[in-house]
Amino acid sequence: MIEVKTREEIELMRQSALIVSKTLGMLAKELKPGVTTKQLDKLAEDYIRSQGALPGFLGLYDCPSTLLTSVNEAVVHGLPTDKPLEEGDIVSIDCGALMNGFYGDHAYTFEIGDVDPETKKLLQTTKESLYVGIREFKNGNRVGDVGYAIQKYCEDQGYGVVRELVGHGLGKKMHEDPEMPNYGKRGRGKKFLEGQVVAIEPMINMGTHRIKQLKDGWTIVTQDGKPSAHFEHDVALVDGKPEILSTFAYVYEALGITSNEEDEFRQKALVL
Ligand code: MG
Ligand code: MG
Repeated sequence: MIEVKTREEIELMRQSALIVSKTLGMLAKELKPGVTTKQLDKLAEDYIRSQGALPGFLGLYDCPSTLLTSVNEAVVHGLPTDKPLEEGDIVSIDCGALMNGFYGDHAYTFEIGDVDPETKKLLQTTKESLYVGIREFKNGNRVGDVGYAIQKYCEDQGYGVVRELVGHGLGKKMHEDPEMPNYGKRGRGKKFLEGQVVAIEPMINMGTHRIKQLKDGWTIVTQDGKPSAHFEHDVALVDGKPEILSTFAYVYEALGITSNEEDEFRQKALVL
């Protein structure tokens, strides 16, 4: 069953999402060759706790870390390790926070130093597909409209759309109804409801959409070993339109990127 939220609850969820956004912005400043994902994990946990929140993933389904850090061919659910990041790597950082009883869940794929142009394009396209999907999260549409839009956008450019892992409803639980696949058919699936909050999160592979799980029981990698990207926003349906609760603004500030990609969704209460 879809749990719709009141305006007050959506404001609380914005606070949870912003903690994660700020965590990603803090990490963006630390991301350089030689840094390990375990070091990043410690920084993230300390930061989230300093904000009066709790790490959202730690302990959830026995997750041992605050961050899930997925390097290169890892799609999602990579566990932090002592292996230093290298020039030319990409790392998808997925982070959750729990505050005031509500979860935030938000991810960005970062470049470490100079990344080859083909991989850069994968990241750019995956991020664009996130907004293409969010635009379809509106009154009158259904789950399949978001999935269709993301799938078409990415497959038209030759990329593989992961099937086995999906976005989800978000609220007092990290994973609520409905599942939000990054593929689908127009007009199919559950109808969107005013006050609904979802995590939309395209996971897009440079090659095949097929994946496998590593022996650690967590890390999902591409079957062909080619890179994969993952971007995620938390989005509420307010006045029939998508309102993005998380923001990449802190990441962009840290990386010196200028972007107006979130503007059209009229994000409110963004305190920089
Ligand atoms: Mg996530
Ligand atoms: Mg998620």
